[in-house]
Amino acid sequence: MAPAVRAQVTALARQFMLGDDAKEILAALRDLHDRQIAFTVDLLGEAVLSEPEADQYARRYLEILELLARETAGWKGVARPETPREGSRSATGQRPTARETGPTPILNISVKISALYSQIHPADPETAIEQISDRLRPILRKAKETGALVNFDMESYALKNLTLNLFKTIFSKPEFDREPARGLAIQAYLKDSEADLADIIAWARSRQRHVTVRLVKGAYWDYETVVAQQRGWPSPVFARKPETDANFEKLSTMLLENDDAVDAAIATHNVRSIAHALAHAERRGMDLRHFEFQMLYGMAEPVKAALLQLGCRVREYCPVGELLPGMAYLVRRLLENTSNEGFLASRYARGISREELLKKPCAAVTVEPQAHFQKPGRADLPVGQDAVAAPLAKQRVPAGFIAFQNEPPTDFTIEAERQKMRESIRDWRNQLGQRYPLIINHKSVSTHDWLPSLNPANQKEIVGYAAQATVAEADAALAAARAAWPKWARTPADERAAILEKTASFVRAEKAALCAIEILEAGKSWTEADADVAEAIDFCNFYAARMRIMGRPERTQHVAGESNFQGWWPRGVGVIIAPWNFPLAILTGMTAAALVAGNSVIIKPSDQTPVIAAHLMQLLMKAGIPPGVANLLTGPGGTVGAHLVEHPQVDFIAFTGSKEVGLKIWESAGRTRPGQMNLKKVVCEMGGKNCVIVDSDADMDEAVAGCLASAFGYQGQKCSALSRLIVLEDNYDAFLQRFIAAAASMRVGPAHDPGNLIGPVISRDAQQRILKMIETGKKEAVLAWQGKVPDNPEACYVPTTIFTGVPPDSRLFREEIFGPVLAVSKARDFNEALTLANTGEFALTGGCYSRSPANIKRVKGEMVCGNLYINRSITGAIVERQPFGGFRMSGGGTKAGGREYLENFTVTRVVTENCLRRGFAPEEEEP
Ligand code: FAD
Ligand code: NAD
Repeated sequence: MAPAVRAQVTALARQFMLGDDAKEILAALRDLHDRQIAFTVDLLGEAVLSEPEADQYARRYLEILELLARETAGWKGVARPETPREGSRSATGQRPTARETGPTPILNISVKISALYSQIHPADPETAIEQISDRLRPILRKAKETGALVNFDMESYALKNLTLNLFKTIFSKPEFDREPARGLAIQAYLKDSEADLADIIAWARSRQRHVTVRLVKGAYWDYETVVAQQRGWPSPVFARKPETDANFEKLSTMLLENDDAVDAAIATHNVRSIAHALAHAERRGMDLRHFEFQMLYGMAEPVKAALLQLGCRVREYCPVGELLPGMAYLVRRLLENTSNEGFLASRYARGISREELLKKPCAAVTVEPQAHFQKPGRADLPVGQDAVAAPLAKQRVPAGFIAFQNEPPTDFTIEAERQKMRESIRDWRNQLGQRYPLIINHKSVSTHDWLPSLNPANQKEIVGYAAQATVAEADAALAAARAAWPKWARTPADERAAILEKTASFVRAEKAALCAIEILEAGKSWTEADADVAEAIDFCNFYAARMRIMGRPERTQHVAGESNFQGWWPRGVGVIIAPWNFPLAILTGMTAAALVAGNSVIIKPSDQTPVIAAHLMQLLMKAGIPPGVANLLTGPGGTVGAHLVEHPQVDFIAFTGSKEVGLKIWESAGRTRPGQMNLKKVVCEMGGKNCVIVDSDADMDEAVAGCLASAFGYQGQKCSALSRLIVLEDNYDAFLQRFIAAAASMRVGPAHDPGNLIGPVISRDAQQRILKMIETGKKEAVLAWQGKVPDNPEACYVPTTIFTGVPPDSRLFREEIFGPVLAVSKARDFNEALTLANTGEFALTGGCYSRSPANIKRVKGEMVCGNLYINRSITGAIVERQPFGGFRMSGGGTKAGGREYLENFTVTRVVTENCLRRGFAPEEEEP
């Protein structure tokens, strides 16, 4: 069965791809040549995840250029007319005279820039341009030598600006200013495309050298639409197919009319789109050989034949490479051939009439391509206008369900956003070293002792000094909180919610500044800091929205003559004890939940991140939290934290941190002390030793990238981080080889530089502890690979470390390390993998990469963890979408960011009223 299926798939693939055998490739290209069809060759391959893979790709481009140059020597190219016909005018009104003469190059290769650098990061296009240029230069030199045209394909939207900038940068260099011939693709489905095309035309004209522009509609429509939706970004692509078609026609006209600067390559299989370009060329009296049509290998053969008959130039896009790495390309082609929206399927499979197919695409649609497509951004909302009210107003909300919109991450592909972040970091560097007092009853309280908060990337840089509370200040804060509580508890839920929503909008307005503090104080990368601040905004808005619902008592049952309503009251006074690793989000989340539910709190942030905590306190006060309702108490957890946990006047503790401290708090809070009125509630979120299984049939590109991000994002200092990787035997060697190469390619350095994916760990203590654990690991398992770190004694770097052959009873396998250290184990089969995964005392996050429905089903049913992720990274839970938290020794099962989370901060009451009045049942009123 399997060989037959393989043969069928191979035959199918061969219809669209040329394979990887040199002889077959050359024969196919010669066949095209004999039929007067030109070619461009594209190299298929796996996703490039490491620098050796990028080197290999670059070598393949050189090899194919050499091979094709040898083969095509002596082939005759299609001559371009040197002067256009009489009457032809460019958009500038001048006759196009600046055309290069001679035939179009026979040799034409298409390159994908993502294949030439493995570490492209949206926030750091400058490094990407440098690195890609290093690999491109030899290719362009070879192209010059062999007279080839190099075309840049256009990939996902995230790479679009980078591709355009790279193109202009490298082809402006004196070495490549005149040669080789150059081209790039423009995707008409993008709302930006008109502005981008205008920019390229102006650039080509200013440099007096032609650019071939391959106009395509765009191959990633589904992907762009889904990604924009998931991130809460406006979609960069048109929503309706006729809009894309109409824009394609508009841009093809633009191309033809600017033929003094650009050579048009109209790349489509759609007869209407082709006919439109032809008709326009005819109207302008253009020679048909002045531009070309491009189509994909194996597609729309009758259309190609018809164009050749008309005397048009036709070029085929020919992907070469092995079957498996080419699967994604093949799937795209199959989808195109079968898509309900696609021209080919409409024509050949669905038999739609000629009139329908050829009708003007946009009779009903006006295309308004935006000059510079900008996402509106939440920062544009007026301060105080909450993110929740807007969607709530628009959507019809079913009872009990809250419409809530997550804060979108910042799109760092936008230069203005990068500039904002750079400026914020610079501004913050000028404000370092300030003193941050305690805040009790809205008053600043200084103490004798000030603890410096140090930049993990430079221990000489003091981010700020935090006042260190003693037991006396802890008691003062508690007294203030107790005094303020009754009034706050009686404040209507909607009013409390509004204050939290206002806090969210202030956090949003200060997003870049707060990110800058996190980058300097916690060593968070730009994107990690941005995600943390966004999550803090989400927590405020989400809990506020939940409280608006919980503020209205809920009828338990409808019964005649009696009303039964359940409502929620605040618990009282609580202590919020937070870790440093999500320095704003976790602190804000626990605080916002407690406050909005009507409690007053003492906020005890981590010693490592007091500066960001002080800013949160300022924003809460600015938003209108009454004096005493929230108090900031920086200071040593072991003394003031422990004192408050024990205190009989404290009603609840919300703690997130290590298992060691969490268990102490759990135990201490369980003891009832004289004068205590309440059983203390403890919300307790602790550590993890999280596991991912990589199945034998896992998608390697996805598994390597996802595991890398999960294990080493923020240096592994996430409770959700991957620390035990279990790989099925069949895949083990291949996976590990790619994984280690990819890990070795990650750039290490200070977090303020957005190109660094790995930064320092939080502190000198943490560094020493993790290094010690690595030494222990060396005795327990095999050190498979260890990265290098910058030579800077002032920074707290720990080399990224991968151990293999890790025994299940070792410390490496069982203890949380909280750093960039990964234990990899081999499993014979899926049963063994699951058994290993479920070993240990933690149950926080887990994951599995697999294509087997049976194994995915088993993981869903059997893997012991609070948050399970299939075929994706295991970090980065989003508020409401993935309520977060574990069980076993990972926590009490309270899900932060979940619908029920607020219940932990309330007591619930039921009020029953007999409504019968001497036998009559009057109409009931809602409470
Ligand atoms: P049609 O059936 O007329 O159009 C299909 C296209 O319409 C889809 O691909 C999509 O772009 C668009 N579309 C579909 N549904 C919707 C919708 N609901 N709303 C809005 N638009 C929609 N693609 C790239 O991205 N980068 C490249 O570098 C690239 N190079 C190519 C090179 C050549 C020679 C060719 C022929 C194609 C290339 N493509 C590239 C693929 C191209 O973008 C199209 O996916 C493909 O050609 C199908 O478009 P069509 O005009 O032939 O067919
Ligand atoms: P930690 O336990 O050392 O400190 C957490 C907080 O507890 C700090 O504010 C600290 O000052 C305070 N504290 C210390 N001793 C105390 C005591 N005796 N009484 C009261 N308070 C005390 O943790 P950390 O190093 O800040 O954070 C890392 C840990 O947090 C990791 O174990 C990680 O897995 C865990 N974490 C868990 C989650 C989750 O949602 N499950 C999220 C983030 C971090």
